[in-house]
Amino acid sequence: MDLAEMRKKVDLLNRYAKEYYEQDNPTVSDGEYDKLYYELVDMEKESGFSYPDSPTHRVGGAPQKEFLPYTHRLRLYSLDKAKDYGELEAYFARIEKAEGVFPVMTVEHKFDGLTLSITYKDGVMIKGATRGDGVTGEDVTAQVRTIKSVPLTIPYRGEIEIQGEGLMRLSSLQKYNETADVPLKNARNGVAGAIRNLDPKVTAKRNLDFVAYNVGYSDYPFKTQEEVHEFLIKNGFLTDDIFCLVSDENGVKEKLEEIEKGRDKLDFLIDGAVIKINDFALREELGHTEKFPRWALAYKFEAQETTTKLLDVIWQVSRTSKLNPLAVLEPVDLMGVTVQRATLNNYSDIQKKGIMINSRVFIRRSNDVIPEITGVAEHTEDSIPIIKPAVCPACGAPVKESGAFLYCTDPSRCAPTIVSFLDHFASKPCMNIDGFSEKTAELLYNELGLKDAYRLYDLTREDLLKLDGFKDKKADNLIDSIAKSKSTTLDRFVFALGIPGIGKKTAKSLCDKFGSLEKIRAATKEELLSIDDFGQILADNVAAFFADENNNKFVDELLSRGIEIKVEEVKTGVFSGKTVVLTGSLSSYKRGKASELIVERGGKMAESVSKNVNLVIVGEDAGSKLSKAQKLGIEIWDEKRFLEELEK
Ligand code: NAD
Repeated sequence: MDLAEMRKKVDLLNRYAKEYYEQDNPTVSDGEYDKLYYELVDMEKESGFSYPDSPTHRVGGAPQKEFLPYTHRLRLYSLDKAKDYGELEAYFARIEKAEGVFPVMTVEHKFDGLTLSITYKDGVMIKGATRGDGVTGEDVTAQVRTIKSVPLTIPYRGEIEIQGEGLMRLSSLQKYNETADVPLKNARNGVAGAIRNLDPKVTAKRNLDFVAYNVGYSDYPFKTQEEVHEFLIKNGFLTDDIFCLVSDENGVKEKLEEIEKGRDKLDFLIDGAVIKINDFALREELGHTEKFPRWALAYKFEAQETTTKLLDVIWQVSRTSKLNPLAVLEPVDLMGVTVQRATLNNYSDIQKKGIMINSRVFIRRSNDVIPEITGVAEHTEDSIPIIKPAVCPACGAPVKESGAFLYCTDPSRCAPTIVSFLDHFASKPCMNIDGFSEKTAELLYNELGLKDAYRLYDLTREDLLKLDGFKDKKADNLIDSIAKSKSTTLDRFVFALGIPGIGKKTAKSLCDKFGSLEKIRAATKEELLSIDDFGQILADNVAAFFADENNNKFVDELLSRGIEIKVEEVKTGVFSGKTVVLTGSLSSYKRGKASELIVERGGKMAESVSKNVNLVIVGEDAGSKLSKAQKLGIEIWDEKRFLEELEK
C-alpha cells in the first residue's frame, strides 16, 4: 500500500473541501473532486486502512467562526452515491437482500445548492442554520429570513426542523451577473456565498429560493416520505415538482432518465437525483453509516463543469463585424466530448471575471451549447493578461467599442464579415439558396471579388465555371437555386438582411406586426417597442438599420433584381389573437403537432407563462406552468376542451 500517495490525496481533498465548504471559493470542479475522492475510497477499501482525518469519515466542513454555532437536534448526513447503473443496481440488490422485497421508493431532484435546516416552533420560524459538519452548523437565521420562499409562519403549531436546499435560480444568477462587479462563478457559489455572508442585505440581493425536501427533528408522527412531502406543501413550502413514488427498479430508471433529459430546461442546478425509501419504519431498520443514511442514494449525473488551462484567446470577426473572443483551451473531456474551445462573451466580461491566459478556468457545458468559461479556478505563475485588440485581426482596420463589444470599423473590406454575411444571406432560413455553403461564399469573394449579396443575382453560369471545383452541373444547379430564391417570404427576407440582433424568431415577430416590408422600413421606435419580444436595443437596431442610407440602397438593389416577397395569408380560427402555452403531455398529439394545429388556427405559441399569454393548455403531469397560469388568472383548458375546440 502506498501510504504517501494516500496521504497526498487526503491532504488535497481536505484543501479542496475547505475552499468549497468554508471559503465558498472552490478551485476544482465537483467532478474533479469526486474523481479524487473515489480514488481515495478505493485505496482505503483495498488496504483496510484510512487516516483519521480522511474526508471519507466526515460530512461537509467546519462552521465559520464569524457565525454563532448552531447544534442540530438531529445530525444531518451526506448521501451515498451511484455514478452509473451498475452501482445503482448493486445498491438495490443490497436493499432487497436486507428487506426481502423491493421497497417503495421516492425519486426527487438532487438540488445543487446549500443545505439548510429551518426550525419552527408554535408556527413561527425561529432558526435557520447551515449543515456545517452535520452536528454543528452556522446560525444564519437573519440571512434565511430574506429568502422569500421561506415561510416566516406556518399553520403547523408543533416543533419541527425543515430541511432543504437554498438555491439561486439560473435566471437570478444571469440577472445578478449582468450588473455585478465580480460575476458569480455558478449558482451554487452564488447561494453559498450569499447565505454565509454576515450582511443579510447581501443575501437579499441574490434573490434566493428554498426548496424543502426533508424533516429533521419533529414532534409530528410521520410514517413516510410521501407524508413529509404533503406536509411541506400544506405548510406553504416550495417542494420538488418531480417528486414521485416508484415500486420497482425499472420505475426508478425511467424516472432518472426523465430527470436527466429535463435537466437543461430547469431554472436551477441539479447534480443528480435522490432515491429514498418511503417507509420510515424500514429506514429505522437500515440505519446510517458515519457519513450517510443507508436508506437513500444519490444518483449522480455527468458533470457539466470542469477546469482546464486557458492557452490563448483569439478574436473572431462575425458577420456583424463584431470581434468575438474565443478561448483556446487545453483539451479536456466534458460530458463525453473533448472540449478545446469556449466562448468568452466580450472583453468587459473577461475583465470582470479576471480571466488570464495560462490560468486554470472553470468551463461549463450543457447539451448542444458551446462551452462557456464561467470564472477563474486558479492563476499560475505564468498567468498573463488578455490584451484588447486595437485593430481588427482579419483586416487591420481600427477597432471601435460600442457598449461591451468591439467592432471592426471597415466591414465592407473585412473578409470574414463579408463571407459570413454572404453565407448567412443564402442560408436555409434566409434566402434558402440550395447548394450554397460558406465555401461558396469564400470562392465568390476570393476569386470573383463578390462582396454585396445582391450581386449574387447578377452571377452567370460563366462566372461560376471560373470557380475552383465548379463544373457544368454544379454551376447550373446554383444558378437555378439563386433564381428560385427570388421568390421568398417576408420573414426570410427580413432575417436575410442581417439586422443586428434580429434572428429567425424576431424577424417573424416583425412581419406578424407590420405585414409588409414598406411598413417595417417605416416603423417608428415606439411601434417597434410594442412588439412582445422587443426591448430598447432591438427596437434601436431595427430603426437605425432602416435609417441608414447604405442599408436602404442594399434593400433597393435586391428588390430591383426581381425579388418577389409573397404575402403570407393570415391564418384565422379559434386561436386567433391568442398566445398559447402547452404544458404537460397530451395523449392525442405530440407537442409539435399540437402547436402546428394551434398556429394553423390563428394562434401564436409561447414557451413560458407570462402575463402576455392568453391561454394555457394542460396535459398530464403539468407542473409549475399550470400553477403560474392559475396565479396569473390565465384561461386554462384541459385536453378534452382542446380537442373539442379543434373540431369547431
Ligand atoms: P452531496 O453531494 O454528497 O449530497 C448530499 C446532500 O445533498 C445532502 O446533504 C442534501 O443537502 C443534498 N440534497 C439535495 N437534494 C436533496 C434531496 N432531494 N433530498 C435529500 N438531500 C438532498 O453533498 P455533500 O456531502 O455536501 O458534498 C459532497 C459533494 O460536494 C461532492 O460530491 C462534491 O461534488 C462537492 N464538493 C466539491 C468540492 C470542490 O472543491 N469542488 C469540495 C468538496 C465537495
